[in-house]
Amino acid sequence: MPKEILKKIELLREELRMHNYNYYVLDNPTISDFDFDIKLKELQQLEAQYPEFQDASSPTQRVGGEITKNFNTVTHTSRMYSLDNSYSLEDLQDWEKRLLKNLGVEKLEYTCELKYDGASINLTYQKGKLITAVTRGDGFQGDDVTANIKTIKSIPLQLMGDYIDDFQIRGEIILPFEGFEKMNMERVETGEEPYRNPRNTASGSLKLQDSAEVASRPLDCLLYHIVGENLPYKTHYDTLENARNMGFKVPSAIVQCMDIDAVFTFINHWDTERHNLPYETDGVVVKVNNLHQQDELGFTAKAPRWAIAYKFKAEQESTILHEITYQVGRTGAITPVANLEPVQLAGTIVKRASLHNADQIAKLDIREGDTVYVEKGGEIIPKVVGVDLSRRPSDSEMTQYITHCPDCSTTLVRKEGDAKHYCPNEFGCPTQITGRIQHFISRKAMNIDGLGAETIELLFNEGLIFNYADLYDLREEQIIPLERMAEKSAQNIVAGIELSKQIPFEKVLFALGIRFVGETVAKKLAKHYKSMYSLMNASFEELVQVDEIGDRIAQSVLDFSNDLGNIQLIDRLKSYGVQLEMSLESQEGKTEKLQGKIFVVSGVFYQMSRNELKKAIEDNGGKISSSISKKTTYIVAGDNMGPSKKEKATDLGIPMITEEEFIDLLKS
Ligand code: AMP
Ligand code: ZN
Repeated sequence: MPKEILKKIELLREELRMHNYNYYVLDNPTISDFDFDIKLKELQQLEAQYPEFQDASSPTQRVGGEITKNFNTVTHTSRMYSLDNSYSLEDLQDWEKRLLKNLGVEKLEYTCELKYDGASINLTYQKGKLITAVTRGDGFQGDDVTANIKTIKSIPLQLMGDYIDDFQIRGEIILPFEGFEKMNMERVETGEEPYRNPRNTASGSLKLQDSAEVASRPLDCLLYHIVGENLPYKTHYDTLENARNMGFKVPSAIVQCMDIDAVFTFINHWDTERHNLPYETDGVVVKVNNLHQQDELGFTAKAPRWAIAYKFKAEQESTILHEITYQVGRTGAITPVANLEPVQLAGTIVKRASLHNADQIAKLDIREGDTVYVEKGGEIIPKVVGVDLSRRPSDSEMTQYITHCPDCSTTLVRKEGDAKHYCPNEFGCPTQITGRIQHFISRKAMNIDGLGAETIELLFNEGLIFNYADLYDLREEQIIPLERMAEKSAQNIVAGIELSKQIPFEKVLFALGIRFVGETVAKKLAKHYKSMYSLMNASFEELVQVDEIGDRIAQSVLDFSNDLGNIQLIDRLKSYGVQLEMSLESQEGKTEKLQGKIFVVSGVFYQMSRNELKKAIEDNGGKISSSISKKTTYIVAGDNMGPSKKEKATDLGIPMITEEEFIDLLKS
C-alpha cells in the first residue's frame, strides 16, 4: 500500500514539475491554473497524510510560509566577482588586445549575453536537488536565502535530463516589467508609495522574512554561469546549453561570436531591440568562450579578466517642460507632474513625467519653460533628471511649489520626515473622498460588482454619497434617473452593495483605506485583533507588538481610530451588517496559548509536516525564529536535527521538546 502511495506521490510531483517548467521556464503553459491547483492540493494532502514521504524538492515546497528572521551568513566556496565595464566599441577592442597578448594567440571566440539587471544569486545543486541559495553579499560572503528562493517557480528544485552531480550555478533574480507594474498598481491602490524600479524591488524581495510574501511576487531567475570542479564542458556557450537542458531558464538571446566584429553586431542589435524585452537589461556581457582560456586568464582583484560588461547608454532625451501640474491622491498626497512637449523615448512617446516632490524640484531648480532631460530608467514612469541651463529662457521664474490643494484649496501640510505634501482636508477634498470610495469598492477590497470608478464620481457629484457608508443607504429609485443609468444597472448596483456585506473582515479592514494598511497588513491585524472594535481600542504600544507592525503603521491606525468621523462611519457599517469581526470559521483552531513564546523548529516530523507545525505555532499566538538564541523558548526537535543546533541548544540551556510534547503543549 505505501509503495503505491509513494508511486502516486512521485507521479504527481513529476507532473507538477513538468507543468511548472512549461509555464515558468518555457513560457508555454500546458494546463489550466485551476487543474494545476487541484493536483497541487491532492499532492499536499497526500504528503500531509504520509509525512514519511516528505521531500524538500517537492513542488508543494514552493508556496512558502517559512519565516526567516535572521539570514545565516555563508562563505562562498568560490568568490562572486563583479565585472569590469566598458562604454564604447574602442574599449572592447582594447580589451581584446590585452587578452590576445596575455594568451599569446591571434584570435579569440566569445559568447555574448545580455546583462540582466537584478540581484545575483548562487545556487548549489547536489544529486540533482537544489541545496542552498546564497546572495552575492560582498562577493566573499552572502546570505542564505534558500527558503525565499524556493518559491521562485522558474528555479528547478529538482533537475531534469543528464545533470551533473555537484555544482553551483549563478544567475540574476529579476522582476519582469509586467509583474512590477502589477505590484505597483496594487500599492498605489492601497495608498502606498510605488516601488522605484524592478531591480531594487527584486533585490529587496530576497531578504523578506515571510517566504509566502516572496512567493506572491512575480520574480524570475535568469542563469548565466556554472561553477564546479572538472566540468565536462569545453566552452561557456556549452555550459549554458547544458544548463538549459537541466531545466534552468537561460535566455535565448545568447550567441557564440567567432570574432569581435560579431560581438559588435550583437551589441548594436540589442541596443535598440532591448526595449522590446519583458525585463530590464543595462548592457551586454562579453565572455571568452573557451573555458581553458578563461582559466589561463584568471581574475584581477575584483573581476574576471575573461569577461567584460558593455553598458548601453541610458535612454535620455531633452524636451520642453510646458507646465507643472499637481495631482491629489486618495490619501491626499500631492504629486507634481511635468507636462512635456511630446518626445520619443525608449520606443514610446512621452508627454508627462514625474517630478517626485518639492525637494526634487528645488534641488534641480526645475522651472516651467525649461528644456529638461527626461530619462526612462528602470522606472515605468519617466522622470525629469536635469535641466539644460544653457537653454533657459531669460524671463524664467523659479518654481513656487503650491501651498494649497488644487482640488479644495485647503492649505497643504508636510509632516516631518515626509517627502510629500498632503492635503489634510480628508473629509472635504473631492478627490480624496471619491478616491477612498473607489478603493473601498475595488476588487481586492469589497469587490462590489456593478460599481466602477466613474459611477462613484457620478454618485458623488449628484450628492448621493459622501463616504463609503453612504453606499449602503443607496436606493434604486435614487440611481435610476441618473445619466447613463437604467433600472437594470441600478438593481445591479444595489444588489452588489448588499452582497458586499458577506465580505470577510480582513478585506473590509483593507477596504477602509487606512494609510499604510495594505492587504497583507490588514490580514495580520485582522488575525491578531479579530474585530474592528478591539483594533480601534488598541494602544500604540500594543500595536507595535504585533508581528511586522512598525511605528508608522501603528500611528496611522491610531490616527484613524481616534477620529470621530471614522468612529461614526464604522458604527454605521456595523449597523448595516458589514463584517467587522473575524467569522468563527476563520477563527477556528486559533488561540493565544503560545503567546510570547518563541520556537525554533528543526528536523523531520511525522505527525504533521513542518509547515503544519509552524502554522500551528503561529495560529496559537507563538512566534517562529530560524536560529537559536537566548530568547528561544522551545526547540521543537524532530529526527535528524543538525548537530550544531543541538550543541547550541544545550549550551544555552534551551529546552528541546519532541513533536508529541509539542502537541501536548497545545492541548494543555
Ligand atoms: P556589476 O555589479 O555592475 O559589477 O556587474 C556584475 C554583475 O552583473 C554580476 O554580479 C551579475 O550579478 C550581473 N550579471 C547580469 N547578467 C550577467 C551575465 N549575463 N553574465 C554575468 N554576470 C551578469
Ligand atoms: Zn484637497
